[in-house]
Amino acid sequence: MSIDRRQWLARLAAGGAGLLLPRRGSAAPMPRPHAAPAPPAPEGCPLPLQDFQPRSMLHVAEHKVERARFPVIDIHTHLCWSKGEEVTLLAAPSQILPVMDRKNIRTMVNLTGGRGAGLAQAIRTFEGAAPGRFLTFTEPSWARIGEAGYPQWQADEVERAKKAGARGVKVLKTLGLFLREGGATGPLVKIDDPRFDPLWDACGRLGLPVAIHVSDPEAFFTPIDRFNERYDELGNHPDWSFHDRDFPSNAELLAARNRMFARHPKTQFIVLHVGNNAENLAAVSENLERFPNTVVEIGARIGELGRQPRTARRFIEKYQDRVLFGTDAVPPPDGDNYPQQVFKDELYEIYYRFLETEDEYFDYAPAVVPPQGRWRIYGLGLPEAVLRKVYHDNAARMLGLT
Ligand SMILES: [Zn+2]
Repeated sequence: MSIDRRQWLARLAAGGAGLLLPRRGSAAPMPRPHAAPAPPAPEGCPLPLQDFQPRSMLHVAEHKVERARFPVIDIHTHLCWSKGEEVTLLAAPSQILPVMDRKNIRTMVNLTGGRGAGLAQAIRTFEGAAPGRFLTFTEPSWARIGEAGYPQWQADEVERAKKAGARGVKVLKTLGLFLREGGATGPLVKIDDPRFDPLWDACGRLGLPVAIHVSDPEAFFTPIDRFNERYDELGNHPDWSFHDRDFPSNAELLAARNRMFARHPKTQFIVLHVGNNAENLAAVSENLERFPNTVVEIGARIGELGRQPRTARRFIEKYQDRVLFGTDAVPPPDGDNYPQQVFKDELYEIYYRFLETEDEYFDYAPAVVPPQGRWRIYGLGLPEAVLRKVYHDNAARMLGLT
């Protein structure tokens, strides 16, 4: 197709519509609750947003980092999904171990290890195949919250899980965003609901760290419109939006979480995804100061850290004893749906390049179009002493490894 460049420039100069048309192809139209109307399609420039794949013309240094400089503990992976007492394994150890060996990953922590018989199966499958290379967390039985005696039962249940080999407890964003009173239609259960207090206390008493995911990126709470920086991502996953309906705001969710942290100072929390607030490192720093019982992990958020590299480097240097390496990795084929999380060599190479080099303007995920937002990232070039802690030592301390 030919575009008359002069007409095009004239249109731009006259304040015409922007370069790109957001269009979602033949898929169902995106929900646009309260969105400002999309700009009218400029004639002569029918380039849909999803077809825009600009190639950087920068001539800058590129370093491929095939192995991490120090052995790695990936504290945030999903090697199975659980439902009730069943787990669905996403890969066999024989598919995971070669990547671990090539990438210098000493240990992977499978956070979604489930409970009961499923937990036992997850532990047997991975830890049994390669002792020391895998660790497993258990998950609470949220759906039983309405049952009499749940609070104490849940506290006892994590103790049983610890005896079965669980090394910590994982909290998905189910808590705060999906779990409802009395089934699907009731009000959302709050993160600081006192019925969970015995659970958090038990974790503290048993020395089980709690890896907690609360809320989601800020943009998931704003309208899916042309101002939304995660327009592509929400277009691909419209159900990830928590805008409108009866969801609390991002700030309300984080405030409820913080009240819970404050009530359980003896429980150790690993606050995933950079404290679930990677867009706002000042706020994350404030929380680290307020809650000495918390550390953060960087999984699936190098896209946020890497576009604010100076702030991110200062943050990690300052809290070098409280930042853990994690990727949120999910093995393919499931992981292919989330390129920023797909378990494969390229994913780890990107993380290592981000942490170790000062390379500029590179992709944060192995994907043609940046999946979380259309930007690129800059390496932090962390000093060796900091790398060693972030890659390994901080997680080893949390997990009680020698
Ligand atoms: Zn995760």
